[in-house]
Amino acid sequence: MSNQYAENFFEVPTALAANDNLRHTVIKLIESEPMPGKVLEDDNENRLQIFRNILTELANGKICLATAYQWTEVELSMHTSLYRFNFQVFSDRWAERLVRTQFSRFYNQAVLKQLLEAGVENCFVPHSDAEKLSSTCTQQLAGRQHPVAALYTRLIDSYSKGKWSRETKIPNHPYCTDVVRPASESD
Ligand SMILES: [Zn+2]
Repeated sequence: MSNQYAENFFEVPTALAANDNLRHTVIKLIESEPMPGKVLEDDNENRLQIFRNILTELANGKICLATAYQWTEVELSMHTSLYRFNFQVFSDRWAERLVRTQFSRFYNQAVLKQLLEAGVENCFVPHSDAEKLSSTCTQQLAGRQHPVAALYTRLIDSYSKGKWSRETKIPNHPYCTDVVRPASESD
């Protein structure tokens, strides 16, 4: 790990434990940003709030990923959803995919936001050992620098506004392990 940033998704908890500033930014985003999607929809934002709490515990290192999947599956049970018995919404391993997508999204959003605010133009996406070489993100994102503003805009469009485009983004799919970090001289 390059100091206080993760090189891939599985290093995110360690990076957040070491980097107070980044962890605070992640938690602020978890508490405030929209998370469009049918699993979290209801009439009073109760499900959204439950999920914000689970992600906050995860970001604070109080629970691990596996526990976050379990809590999500139990507390956001399909039987209490507007979309109960919709097996496209609640397909196999839905809770794991939801946690992984949003935890990655908030980590990357926080890093990109800090870089943007610091006026940094480029970030770096390291190669992730956990990603298939054939995946789109490995081929189009990993191992090179990218403009911070472009990745940030695509992330917000997809994950905050729910406007999905085919452009390669970070995270690029629910099991995406690619993350952004500040670029260094050797990148
Ligand atoms: Zn990926």
